[in-house]
Amino acid sequence: MPRLLTAFKPTGHLHLGNLIGAVRPIAARRQDSDTTVFIADLHAMTVQHDPTTLRALTMECAGLLLASGVDPSCFYAQSHLPEHTELHYLLECVTHYGEAHRMIQFKEKGGTGSRISLLTYPVLMAADILLHDTDQVPVGEDQLQHLELTRTVAQRFNSLYGTTFTVPVGVAPLVGARIMDLGDPNRKMGKTGATDHGSIQLLDPPDVIRRKVMRAVTDTLGVVRFAPEEQPGVANLLTILAACTSGDPRELAGTFTGYGELKAAVADAVVATVAPIQERYAALDPSDVRQALLGGAKRARDTAYPTVSRARAAIGLLD
Ligand code: ATP
Ligand code: MG
Repeated sequence: MPRLLTAFKPTGHLHLGNLIGAVRPIAARRQDSDTTVFIADLHAMTVQHDPTTLRALTMECAGLLLASGVDPSCFYAQSHLPEHTELHYLLECVTHYGEAHRMIQFKEKGGTGSRISLLTYPVLMAADILLHDTDQVPVGEDQLQHLELTRTVAQRFNSLYGTTFTVPVGVAPLVGARIMDLGDPNRKMGKTGATDHGSIQLLDPPDVIRRKVMRAVTDTLGVVRFAPEEQPGVANLLTILAACTSGDPRELAGTFTGYGELKAAVADAVVATVAPIQERYAALDPSDVRQALLGGAKRARDTAYPTVSRARAAIGLLD
């Protein structure tokens, strides 16, 4: 069975892009893969953060993932498994400064006043992946560069110190790999940096979802076609509709004559998609969520500990 891994940063509220691009592909492969999901709370501290908000968002993210069908047996908070930080340091010892510095996110957000963790978190990400002997990482396009760094570092460690890590490959989810911001269809929908009404959060009430979809930026062409280059806003709406109704964006395009009609269908489909998740989330008991996280970390240690022991021995540390 392939070993898969996905992480969610508690930097903001989970949104439709997270659901379509990551949560649903994981839930769909529950039977035929060995999937680990963790909440990347350590990654949420690479930029300025508020401790109380971080704790609240970590709990909200955990609850929403459970409510969205993520298997609780391999599910934990990153900081509950200290092997992540230990392997991070060992991998930093084989990573070049230039490799970390080249990462697009550092180029965009980094500077002399930024935290060193903003530069080195892609190495923590490599540790996250290698810790679990992951073969396949389902990644949206925004994460491809980080996966490449992971492969580079793993291959270098293996060739310097003997085969220690499984070198993973990236796999793309099928429909809706990348959902774009409703207010700016040229940038991805995100927890951070979204436009005012650009991100649909999984906990948004139906009227808020409808308002955001109806305000989505389209174009002045007035034809409903799936043409991501020429009509990125319309294509994004069709992608969302396809993902929410298990349809095909090109075929769906032919069933609409105008943007208003398309938006109404998208709003209905999104509301229907998130409703059962919101219901399950409301019924969760926070102490059960915490227990699920702690139990998951304990189980994750069974694969994480041997990997770090192997790496420690290979790199020359005493038993
Ligand atoms: P941030 O803005 O803090 O980076 P994010 O919205 O990008 O937050 P992450 O926690 O970085 O969310 O990513 C969680 C998962 O969701 C990853 O697998 C990522 O590839 C996927 N993902 C994030 N945004 C989108 C999107 N707009 N479309 C599809 N998948 C996405
Ligand atoms: Mg991200």
